[in-house]
Amino acid sequence: LPPSAGEGSPTAYVVTVGNELLIGRTVNTNAAWLGRRLTLLGFRVVRMITVPDDVGEIASAVREGLERARVVVTTGGLGPTYDDVTLQGVAEALGRRLVLNREALEMVKRFYERLDGVLTEERVKMAMLPEGAKPLRNPVGAAPGALVECGGRIIASLPGVPREMEAMFLEEVEPVLRRIAPPVSIVECGLTVKGVPESLLAPHVKRAARVGGSVYVKSHPRGSEAGAPVVEVKVLASAPSRAEALNVAREALRIVGEGARSLGGEVVEEDCS
Ligand code: ATP
Ligand code: MG
Repeated sequence: LPPSAGEGSPTAYVVTVGNELLIGRTVNTNAAWLGRRLTLLGFRVVRMITVPDDVGEIASAVREGLERARVVVTTGGLGPTYDDVTLQGVAEALGRRLVLNREALEMVKRFYERLDGVLTEERVKMAMLPEGAKPLRNPVGAAPGALVECGGRIIASLPGVPREMEAMFLEEVEPVLRRIAPPVSIVECGLTVKGVPESLLAPHVKRAARVGGSVYVKSHPRGSEAGAPVVEVKVLASAPSRAEALNVAREALRIVGEGARSLGGEVVEEDCS
């Protein structure tokens, strides 16, 4: 498990919604983006699940998310079309009604004033949020998101369009999550090993993973195991300060690098982030 996986780390659960994801038309970049962001914030992402545009399926995923994690993030299905039913699913999971949210309606109105000033039924639908939800401003598109706090848990529902989802997460959700995020710094470092098959590098990777503290070491084969092996090794470390996290990460990489060189490999180190 990743380093933020300290036992005490707050947990997160990601629900991506959309038939287009399940049929393989759209690549689920939202899940990857959120997984990384939440991890770097110090959350332990315990599960990601993709469900169709179906109220029952969404509700069941959100319910499970609430059982397993402190924070549930959904993406997709907030728009004006008939198949955008995510907030209905969230409402059902919470046993709440979907109600017209005044503030959300203002946001939708303002968005369309710049366009044609017309408020159709489909546009008003985007302002229907679970009872008690706080609307999240969409800095890019029309559909507001929704944030529900319930029994110490948080559900954030974001749009599907990656640009809208990312902007809303950074501007509206992160500030809320930072309040419950652990006081840790997380750094990522990496190196590339050429000329050593992953299977021979494996014991050194295992040793590096035990340097202590909260560190996650993972090798990624990029070339072919036989022939011209190239292995990328990534280290994610978390500690109370950035300096400490850097120390742990660099020590882990040093172990892998030494092991690789002892096997005749060529090692290229990357900068830490
Ligand atoms: P809209 O207001 O545009 O309808 P929405 O919140 O209803 O937004 P969806 O209809 O579910 O979102 O998705 C809109 C588009 O965003 C999809 O056509 C797809 O290209 C993209 N998208 C949706 N989910 C994801 C995802 N998980 N990863 C990457 N792209 C996605
Ligand atoms: Mg849509």
